[in-house]
Formats: sequence, structure tokens, C-alpha cells
Amino acid sequence: MRLVTLSVSVGCLQSKQILKEKERETQQRTKVEMADSHTHLDLFQDLAQVDSAISYGVSTIITCGVDTKTNFRSLELQDGRHIFAALGVDPEHLSGMGKDEIDFNMKLIRERRGQIVAIGEVGLDYKITSEKEEIAKQKSAFSGFLKLAKELDLPVCIHSREAMSDTMEMVEESGAKKVMFHFFSGDEHEAMRAASKGYMISIPPMESSKRRRVIKAVPIDNLLVETDSPVASATPRDVERAIRMVCEAKGLAFDKTAERLTLNTKRFFNIRSPLMRI
Ligand SMILES: [Zn+2]
Repeated sequence: MRLVTLSVSVGCLQSKQILKEKERETQQRTKVEMADSHTHLDLFQDLAQVDSAISYGVSTIITCGVDTKTNFRSLELQDGRHIFAALGVDPEHLSGMGKDEIDFNMKLIRERRGQIVAIGEVGLDYKITSEKEEIAKQKSAFSGFLKLAKELDLPVCIHSREAMSDTMEMVEESGAKKVMFHFFSGDEHEAMRAASKGYMISIPPMESSKRRRVIKAVPIDNLLVETDSPVASATPRDVERAIRMVCEAKGLAFDKTAERLTLNTKRFFNIRSPLMRI
């Protein structure tokens, strides 16, 4: 009987110690500044989840519009401190949109130039269509957004699905310099082609051997991390998992990796928030 009691109390002591250690670890981790380079905060039912991610340490979050409604919502959500807006029309929402509405969104980007940090998301998606007309429409809009980005000197967040070769060609031809491939799904050769032009490769928190090869091949200066939440992950806090993937593949410490990737995000989007260290 006594023996049992003793083992129970030792067990409690151990679990209390583990709890304390975990608490300390969490406290230390919250001091690490993280950045999420691609989200859709307009889709969050409960913005307390975003606040909690910010308190946890994800102090820089880029939220992207994909159509007229979400572009306006992104403008409402941006606070110039932790949340920054990118405006665009993605290929999926483009299909139901007339020329007038596309032009309206371009005008909106021009008018709100001072309130946004990028154009996006924009790009090509051949998974959703193989129709010639639709693809031509995607290319025409994408080309317009690339030109606008160059004219306004804004970075571009690119969505490219099953269309990497055309996307890369159009980006290279456009002469746009600040380019980020969000949720990069290409292989290491495509990633290196992009990196050699100075483009950024954004890594989501979904592990695969192909993605690991991409992370290993691309210099850390060309890497960003993102969650694409709440579409592909739950909240911006999940960016921690993407950072961990980078630090493990690169053999670097977590804190150093987080710091470097946060700096990359701020440099890329030209963010000079009060928390900015550079
Ligand atoms: Zn997205």
C-alpha cells in the first residue's frame, strides 16, 4: 500500500516538473518573433485565434484578398502593426468575374497603394480548368497584375498550381523583381530557377520529401514561411511547424531560423513596423 502511494506521489512530482519545463519552454518560445507570409484572415470566424497567434509570437501576418469582397475586408483587417494586407484576384475567383470587376480591383490597388504591402494573391491555376478561354483569361489578368506591381513597385504573392512553367515564364518576362511563390509546390530545380532570379519560395507547414529537398536546395535568404490559414492550416500559429521544417532541413537552431525568416518577410514586404529590428 505504502509502495503504491510512493510511486503515485513520485509520478505527480515528475508530471509537475514536466509541466513546469513545458511552461518555461513556451515562455521562451513566445519571445521568438515569427512571421506568417500568407493567410486569409477574412475567413476567420473567430479573430481571437489570430490575436492568440500574435500573442504567441507570430507578430507579423500578411493577409491576402482574392476577390472584391475579401480585398475590402483585408483593408479593414490590416493594422499596420501586426497585420498587413495584400490585394489581388486569384485564378479561382477570376473565373466568375467580368472585366469591369477586374479593372475595379486594379484601381483599388492603385488607390490604396499606401495601405498595402503587396499585390496578391494572383497567378495561374490549371488544376481548376483546362479550357483555353479560361486559361487565356487567367494569363491576361495575371499579366495585368504583374505590370501593376512593377509600376507601383510592390511585391507580388503568386498562386501557381500545375502551371509552374507558364507562371515562371510570365514572371521572368514581366521584369517584376519582388516575387514570392506562395505554398510552393514545385521541385528543387524549379525552386532553384526561381531563387537564382531572386524570387522567394514560401514554405507551408505540410511535410513531404519533395518539400524537404526544396528547403535544402534553396538558400535561406530566398525562403519564407506561411500557413495559408484557415484554408490549409488552422491558425497563423501553425507557422511554427513550417519554421521547424526549415530549421531541421537546414540543421539550424529554431530561434535563429525564426529570426532569419521573420527578417526575410519584413524585408520582402518592406515592413517597418514598430517591432521591426532592421
Ligand atoms: Zn492563399
